[in-house]
Amino acid sequence: MNASRYDCIVIGAGHNGLTCAAYLARAGRRVLVLEAAEQAGGTAGTREFAPGFRASSCAHLLHLMPGWLLEELRLARHGLRMAAENMPTFALSGAGALRIPTDVDSAAHDLGEADARAFRDYAARMRRLAAALRPLLEAVPPRLGSRAWRDRLTLLGLAAKLRLLGRADMRELLRIAGMCVQDLLDEHFQSPLLKGALAFDAVLGTNLGPRSPGSVFTLLYRLAAGSGAAASLAQPVGGLGALTAALAQAAKAAGAELRLAAPVARVIVTEDSAAGVLLGSGERLEAGCVVSSADPTTTFLRLLGAEHLDAGFVRRVSHLRTQGMTAKLHLALQSMPRFRALAGAEPTGRMVFASSLRAVEQAFNDAKYGRFSAAPLLEVIVPTAVDPGLAPAGRHVLSAVVQYAPYRIAGGWEGQREQFLDTILQTLEAHAPGLRDSVCAAELLTPQDIETQFRVSGGHWHHAELALDQFFMVRPVAGAAQYRAPVRGLFLCGAGCHPGGGVMGLAGRNAARQVLAQAA
Ligand SMILES: Cc1cc2nc3c(=O)[nH]c(=O)nc-3n(C[C@H](O)[C@H](O)[C@H](O)COP(=O)(O)OP(=O)(O)OC[C@H]3O[C@@H](n4cnc5c(N)ncnc54)[C@H](O)[C@@H]3O)c2cc1C
Repeated sequence: MNASRYDCIVIGAGHNGLTCAAYLARAGRRVLVLEAAEQAGGTAGTREFAPGFRASSCAHLLHLMPGWLLEELRLARHGLRMAAENMPTFALSGAGALRIPTDVDSAAHDLGEADARAFRDYAARMRRLAAALRPLLEAVPPRLGSRAWRDRLTLLGLAAKLRLLGRADMRELLRIAGMCVQDLLDEHFQSPLLKGALAFDAVLGTNLGPRSPGSVFTLLYRLAAGSGAAASLAQPVGGLGALTAALAQAAKAAGAELRLAAPVARVIVTEDSAAGVLLGSGERLEAGCVVSSADPTTTFLRLLGAEHLDAGFVRRVSHLRTQGMTAKLHLALQSMPRFRALAGAEPTGRMVFASSLRAVEQAFNDAKYGRFSAAPLLEVIVPTAVDPGLAPAGRHVLSAVVQYAPYRIAGGWEGQREQFLDTILQTLEAHAPGLRDSVCAAELLTPQDIETQFRVSGGHWHHAELALDQFFMVRPVAGAAQYRAPVRGLFLCGAGCHPGGGVMGLAGRNAARQVLAQAA
């Protein structure tokens, strides 16, 4: 046998590439994973951003990966441990903190009576809708207009599960799915802080504001994805890189090989089929199939090349909305930050800075016109509060997801990065007096940095905007929604495919099913 010939070559060792590789290797395939970076993990890794200080590179909370996937790949046995699970969310404002209820029964704590009652109804219904949508995320999308029995059965199965919702919930789903989240929240609640925090979850990682149509869809997506997760809001010991390390271990234990610092320059096409890859070093590797977790724009237009695709397909890929809106901030701190609203308690939960619907919409307004938000929205955790090993003894790390930071801003990021950092620090200082003086190093990643450092075109959270027009049977584009490229033997398995981004592993696992189905 040719020593460098593999059954499958997987491009990229982000969590989806590794998940896909693990499933393929477990099915007996000879698998090679090629990662351009010097470490595995992609946007779900852990990095040392200042000497002795480590933080999750982009994703910092694990809350979407299904429990069955963690178990099937035996990630606990491969070293995955949690520093915190079921972390609470606190919405912070100048006036105090509101603990966002995580379930229907805990609603009464901090909310007024009317909002507590409304929350119980709202949460119960949203949970039912999310659970009904959940099977959609785990399914390989059927082909549009297909007469094949497998596609028909998938569609029928999904429709039957939705039908189980009953008439009232079904009607509500149809009513709200395309709506803006502001209207939905205004229908239910009075508290500006509660509405701000719930709207934040709807727009996080997207190019939407609370008044944008489709923002209820993104909220439902997040709830649906989280509804099958092992634990809501968890932080692995060692950051998200520990999850990808466990996935890499699972893939290797099943026989997969992993090569780091091995950027793929081209997918080799022979007789209209993907037949291997050409590395940046000039080395050629042969394979029965190639599975790419790189984003769709990179995969189709750079690695494969438009010459192998028809013009309509190239146009669809070129028109994908891929520009990110979300930045990441890491701070190395001399001491534990103390947030006024938490009244001296250690920040062991998730803190959301989105004080009202108006604040969220105003932050979005800046971005619409090519500026970073003057009053940015933040999702903050202090990972060292539950995992002290991420910093030298007694020191701390603050990790913040920051919105809105458009991929392109008027005047360019180069001259404005310091100004944006200063704006975020001001926001934090207002809530945690003294924090600024405690900063010994800071790293701010704009979407352009995410593009360059993690090789994601546009630096987008989902590799391509997650919206009704880029979802399910048309994700990333029609003609490639079943993880198969128009070129035989080339598959996609990253966040750009169904069901989108977030550390879920489903794109990787669904793609492996398709590869195995083709070979069967
Ligand atoms: C700022 C930010 C914060 C986020 N926070 C969260 C969060 O808290 N929780 C959550 O669930 N999700 C979060 N996300 C989303 C989540 O990080 C991503 O959706 C998910 O990690 C994507 O995983 P992936 O494996 O599909 O792709 P990636 O992680 O992008 O991995 C793709 C891999 O392919 C490699 N690659 C690309 N091109 C080549 C090539 N030519 N040759 C070899 N290798 C190549 C890349 O180097 C990379 O390692 C966040 C995203 C961002 C941007």
